[in-house]
Amino acid sequence: MPFFVDAHQDLAWNMLSFRRDYTRSAYETRRREKGTQIPAWNNGECLMGWPEYQQGQIAVIFGSLFATPQRFQSGAWDTVAYRTQEEAYRWYRKNLDEYNRLVDQHSDFFRLVRSRAELESVLSGWAAPQETPPSEPPGSEDGQTARKGHPVGVVLCIEGAECIRTMADVEEWWQAGVRFIGPAWGGNLYTGGTKEPGPLTQAGYRLLETMQELGMGLDISHMSPQSAERALDVYEGPLIASHSNPVALLKEDENNRHLTDRAVRGVIDHQGVIGIVPFNTFLQQGWSWSLRNGKDLVSLHDVVAHIDYVCQMAGNAQHVGFGTDFDGGLGWQGVPKEIDTIADMQKIAPLLAEKGYREADIAAIFGGNWLRILHQTLPER
Ligand SMILES: [Zn+2]
Repeated sequence: MPFFVDAHQDLAWNMLSFRRDYTRSAYETRRREKGTQIPAWNNGECLMGWPEYQQGQIAVIFGSLFATPQRFQSGAWDTVAYRTQEEAYRWYRKNLDEYNRLVDQHSDFFRLVRSRAELESVLSGWAAPQETPPSEPPGSEDGQTARKGHPVGVVLCIEGAECIRTMADVEEWWQAGVRFIGPAWGGNLYTGGTKEPGPLTQAGYRLLETMQELGMGLDISHMSPQSAERALDVYEGPLIASHSNPVALLKEDENNRHLTDRAVRGVIDHQGVIGIVPFNTFLQQGWSWSLRNGKDLVSLHDVVAHIDYVCQMAGNAQHVGFGTDFDGGLGWQGVPKEIDTIADMQKIAPLLAEKGYREADIAAIFGGNWLRILHQTLPER
């Protein structure tokens, strides 16, 4: 089973919004949320927790720092929301506190990855021969008992740059351990974003310059095509699209959330990596939550089609990986039929093999390509 690296998970947002505890198994979280409104509000059923990371060989995840601009708030439950940059800054600091608490209290389960040394230390655990993965939730009632397995590495990433009040904040976030910034979610003072098209602004250019000086990775996911294509022209540091699919396979989709062919080509030319999102609305045009038995209409073959699209454009398998976005607005109900938990992402490996992908290609897609980007982005210590 190849290592899996996941370039986008909204752990802190889920911890702040729903008090989800990712040391527990997804099944335990589902059990605890049964009869509550949590699955109905936004996410659907939980897709992951530490036991499923072990089972699916998920060694490293990119954990987002995220809060919602108030104009996009989707209900009274949606409390992690801000009106001003100052409020955004405070919420993003709280996200950071959640990750720090998680790794401080559960260092057997999760470790921050801020440097190549920390990455090597996490990976050395995973390189050890695999013990039998836990097939059921942790034994103790509160799920806090460390089980056989390896700590999962967490790389900190900002999604939505309104938490950056002045350029001095960029360095502050770097010092705090953040290694990638996605300037957009919606549109903001720096860039056009999802559902809010617009250009890269003067402030946006300054942000990119400052990030580049520090060696921060740029994440173009959620940037409007106009802004993303400009950023691809000017940014000289490490560059990724952590969780985005090619719009070419969703032809009549009016959402500007996806990557144009020009953006896909730009990421490839930049030696970057695109994280494919296994979310049904991002895989199949016209899919919606309201479809009866909607989950059954989408399969992992649709995920493979998006991976293959990027590989065909690149002429190799060096520029694609996964950014599941799990538990960030999509849960069990919104992902392909074969996925019960994140551990099932491993079922994609045989489908790629059937399509002619060699073992080395599959290992690159599952984790190797993201590790290359991490080696490029992380400081040595
Ligand atoms: Zn996102």
